[in-house]
Amino acid sequence: MELPDFDVRIPDTLKEAAELLARSAPGGAMSLAGGTDLLIRMKEGVSKPGMIIILEKIGKIKVIKASKNRIRIGGAATFDAIIRSKIIQNKAPVLAAACEKIGSPQIRNRGTIGGNIANASPCADSVPALAVLEAEVALVSQSGERRLPVIECFKGPKKNAFRPDEIISHIEFPAPKQPLRSFYLAKGQRKALSITKLSVACQMEIDSGGKVKKARIAYGAVAPTVIRGYAVEEFLTGKALSPGVLKEAEEIARKEIKPIDDIRSTMEYRRIVTGALLRRGLSSVGKTEQ
Ligand SMILES: Cc1cc2nc3c(=O)[nH]c(=O)nc-3n(C[C@H](O)[C@H](O)[C@H](O)COP(=O)(O)OP(=O)(O)OC[C@H]3O[C@@H](n4cnc5c(N)ncnc54)[C@H](O)[C@@H]3O)c2cc1C
Repeated sequence: MELPDFDVRIPDTLKEAAELLARSAPGGAMSLAGGTDLLIRMKEGVSKPGMIIILEKIGKIKVIKASKNRIRIGGAATFDAIIRSKIIQNKAPVLAAACEKIGSPQIRNRGTIGGNIANASPCADSVPALAVLEAEVALVSQSGERRLPVIECFKGPKKNAFRPDEIISHIEFPAPKQPLRSFYLAKGQRKALSITKLSVACQMEIDSGGKVKKARIAYGAVAPTVIRGYAVEEFLTGKALSPGVLKEAEEIARKEIKPIDDIRSTMEYRRIVTGALLRRGLSSVGKTEQ
């Protein structure tokens, strides 16, 4: 199938890209990073931009860096760059684990974290990890920069909460003072190159007495958008991860998610397996040596 005619621009700076987006009619121009989602949507006729703004040359939005208190990932950082980053491996292993689950080497080489967020799929693998890291998404347009907590970036399946003239310049989250325990567990049809049917991300701080000081849980593909597991988080706080607590957390997780039947899975499967994955993950972090 042939792509319809469209104009292509390759700006050198974020400012230039924002100007191009602001000048075009709403929906007329779209950013393109890795193209692993957008080019497919264009081929299928779902997206029909009149102009494509390729972000490739804007080096500033590919950088991953850490300051004393914060970690910043450029919106156009690829999954491969994130997985290889020592900063992410040491300070945010939950994100490295989530990015490792994505697609194939080719997709991880091209696909970007900004594209994953903007695409607003409830099965996007990076998003539950970013949610437990309590990440904020920085959006740049000609009117300046605004920030949204990652969990507020979605209005529904494939509907983000951004204006068409906004570009994700970076994602930022607090740098933990000491390594935290975490996991990202996901189920797909196959081990590789399959879209996630359900996923669970967790990051937690456990005190010297073995009790949960702070728990952050998020679920993917079990609601119209990625959701936080507030009920399980509250339940776990102040408790040791005993077999009884894990069993109860599993039950709470099954109740707090809102899965549906769709082409990838059933509501029932998602409820049962999400609870089981949470329990398995909690059991493994409970055993991890500090
Ligand atoms: C074979 C295959 C397997 C896949 N497997 C997985 C998987 O396992 N898990 C998963 O989560 N995803 C998967 N995907 C989906 C896809 O690779 C990801 O969503 C990827 O992160 C998209 O990033 P991109 O840079 O390619 O985005 P693009 O295709 O370039 O853009 C996607 C959307 O985001 C917008 N956009 C891009 N960058 C920005 C920015 N900086 N600011 C604002 N808007 C922006 C574009 O305008 C477009 O609307 C797969 C895709 C394919 C083709």
